[in-house]
Amino acid sequence: MQYRKMNGGKDKLSVLGFGLMRLPMDKDHKIIEDKAMEMLKTAYVNGVNYFDSAWPYHGGESEPILGRFLKTIERKKVFIATKLPTWLTKTRQDMDEYLDKQLDRLGTSYIDYYLLHALNGKRWKELKKAGIIDFMEQAKASGKIRHIGFSFHDKYPAFKSIVDNYNWEFCQIQHNYFDIRREAGIRGLQYAASKGMGIIIMEPLLGGKLAGNVPAEAEKVWRKSKYNWTPAERAFRFVWNYPQVQVVLSGMSTLEQVKENLKIATTATANSISADEMKLYAKVRKVYLSKMVVRCTGCGYCLPCPYKVAIPFALGIYNDVHIFSNKQRHKWEYDFFIPADNKADKCTKCGACIPKCPQKIDIPAELERVVDYFKD
Ligand code: SF4
Ligand code: SF4
Repeated sequence: MQYRKMNGGKDKLSVLGFGLMRLPMDKDHKIIEDKAMEMLKTAYVNGVNYFDSAWPYHGGESEPILGRFLKTIERKKVFIATKLPTWLTKTRQDMDEYLDKQLDRLGTSYIDYYLLHALNGKRWKELKKAGIIDFMEQAKASGKIRHIGFSFHDKYPAFKSIVDNYNWEFCQIQHNYFDIRREAGIRGLQYAASKGMGIIIMEPLLGGKLAGNVPAEAEKVWRKSKYNWTPAERAFRFVWNYPQVQVVLSGMSTLEQVKENLKIATTATANSISADEMKLYAKVRKVYLSKMVVRCTGCGYCLPCPYKVAIPFALGIYNDVHIFSNKQRHKWEYDFFIPADNKADKCTKCGACIPKCPQKIDIPAELERVVDYFKD
C-alpha cells in the first residue's frame, strides 16, 4: 500500500480509501454484515486506513456498520470520514444534532475527516446563513472533528467560490479519465491544491463503468499500451497519477474487488504515466465521446425546467447507455436516481429549454427518445 500525506500534515493516508456506499446487500437490500466485515478487515490488514461513510448511505446503515468494525480494530490506526447531510440541516441546532448522532452511530468520540455532503453553490449560501461556519469552528475546537472539508456536485465557478470562501482543509470531488471536465474538473482539482487543500477523489471508475465492458474501438487503442493493465487498473492509475491527490475512494461491493484494488494500490505512484500513455487515455476518451448520441455536456443551462424535468441527468444516462453498452445497469440508474416527478415523461414540450441550450439540442425530441428507450 502506498501512503500520501495530507498537505504536509501528520496524517499519512492510504492512497486507496474504502467507500462504504456499495457494500454487499441481500435481496431485501440489507447489508450482508459478515461479507462486509470480511471486506473491511481485508482492506485494513492490507494497509487501507481511510474509511469513508455518510449519513444516508445504505439507508443509514453504513455508519453503524463502520462503528461495529471500529470496535474490532485499534481506532487510532485509521482515519474515519463521514458527512453532514447538508440537505437535511436547516438550522444551526440541526448541525450539532446530526454530528452527535453520527458520533453515536460510529461509536467514536471524534471524526478525522468531516465533510459537508454534496455542496453546491446554492446550498453553501443557505448553510452560511444557517450558521455553518460557527458550527465548523465549534466542532473543531471541541475535538469532535479533526479536519473539515466538503464533497461537491456543481460546476467549476461554484466550486471556486466555495473554495475561496472558507479556510478548508480538503475537498472530495468526482474525477476519472473520462470525465476530466465535469463538475470541479481538472481546473478545480488544481485550484484547490494550489490553495493548500487535500484532494480526495470519488468515482474513479465512473460508478464501475470504466471497469466493465470495454468497447472494441477502445480496446484497439489500449492494445498499443506498453502495459497489460486491467480496465480498473487503468482508471485508478489515471487519478493516482496526480501528485495533488491523496486518497482515491472505491465503493467496493465484493471481496474480489477489494483484493484487486489492494494489488493495484501497491504501485500507485504519482507522475508515473508517460506522455505517450496519456495520449492513449485521450484517444479512448474520444472513442467514448464519439459514442454519445446526444451532444449534451451536462452544463445545466437549460434548467430550471418549469415542469421539473431533470434534463441533463436524463440525457446523461441516455448517453451512458450508448457509450458503455449496458442497458440493464443504466435502466436501473434511470429508475433509481431520477425521481418519478423529474423523469423525461414529465416533459410537456413547452419548449422553454430549447433557446437556453448552447449545443442547440432539440431537448423535448431527445427526451421523447429517452422515454421510449427506457419504457421497458
Ligand atoms: S420542453 Fe420539456 S424539458 Fe424543456 S422546459 Fe419544457 S417541459 Fe421542460
Ligand atoms: S443546456 Fe443543452 S447541453 Fe446543457 S445540460 Fe441542457 S441539454 Fe445538455
